Amino acid sequence: MKQLYGLLGESLKHSISPEIHSLIFKEMNIDGYYHLFEVQRDNLKDAVYGLKALGAKGANVTIPYKIPAMEYVDELSPEAEKIGSINTICFEDNKTKGYNTDYYGFGMLLNKNQVKISNKKAVILGSGGAAKSVLQYLVDKGIGEITIVSRDKDALKANASFKDFKLMCYSELMQLKEEDIIINSTPCGMYPNVDNSPISRDIVNNFSVAVDLIYNPCETVFLKFARESNLTYMNGLYMLVGQAVCAEEIWNGIKISEKIIDKIYNQLK
Ligand code: NAP
Repeated sequence: MKQLYGLLGESLKHSISPEIHSLIFKEMNIDGYYHLFEVQRDNLKDAVYGLKALGAKGANVTIPYKIPAMEYVDELSPEAEKIGSINTICFEDNKTKGYNTDYYGFGMLLNKNQVKISNKKAVILGSGGAAKSVLQYLVDKGIGEITIVSRDKDALKANASFKDFKLMCYSELMQLKEEDIIINSTPCGMYPNVDNSPISRDIVNNFSVAVDLIYNPCETVFLKFARESNLTYMNGLYMLVGQAVCAEEIWNGIKISEKIIDKIYNQLK
């Protein structure tokens, strides 16, 4: 019988997750169906428990439920515990466990592009859920120095997640010299606001690698600056595929090869 999987979020009109998961099902011979569930905050608990009661194998969770959904799982994986948010829920043997596969997806994106992070200097733009996954991954993999950039630096100072890191506001970015990696973890430049960039061309120029977590459009203005300044640059599509692949590996106890991941990625780009 077809197994049920799905995505829980508030507004899912533009989600390409069903397409990605269908490609994984096909490649891995999984008899599954991946449904988009738009739920209101008041119904989130019932939605998680309802999926469990209906025998769903797993669910993803997206904006704005990555933090509140943690309340409705029995256990957290180590990376989800450290990051403080989940994007994947696995229902098994009467136990519901939350994971953060954005963390692994980000790592897969860096590995794919052979970006070395050990002892490098990184700047993360934004302080939301994706920024926290990126931050944790970089810390776990031995980054040398991290600066987090926010529109409201004072608010960040009061946030325990960021207490060990250098914080900046956008107007201070010109002070940075000889940096290595810059990661856009804000929605600035995302469809439909495709003419926006979180930072100017001059600032992009101070880096050797630019990563944009946005995948629509495939080249944001931020990445256009990076390409024109001869940086190594990449968008967030491989990360998106990577986080979906990791979720399927967790739900089905399988390992998906890099060859298959690349095949799926190439069909989407
Ligand atoms: P989020 O929780 O809403 O956080 C976004 C952060 O960006 C905010 O905390 C804010 O930080 C900053 N921000 C918001 N609007 C901004 C604006 N107009 N200009 C500049 N900064 C702004 O969202 P998220 O889940 O972290 O997602 C962020 C981006 O990453 C989105 O584009 C999302 O699609 C992408 N993403 C991609 C993947 C992937 O697999 N490729 C996975 C997750 C997320 P401050 O208030 O501190 O400035």
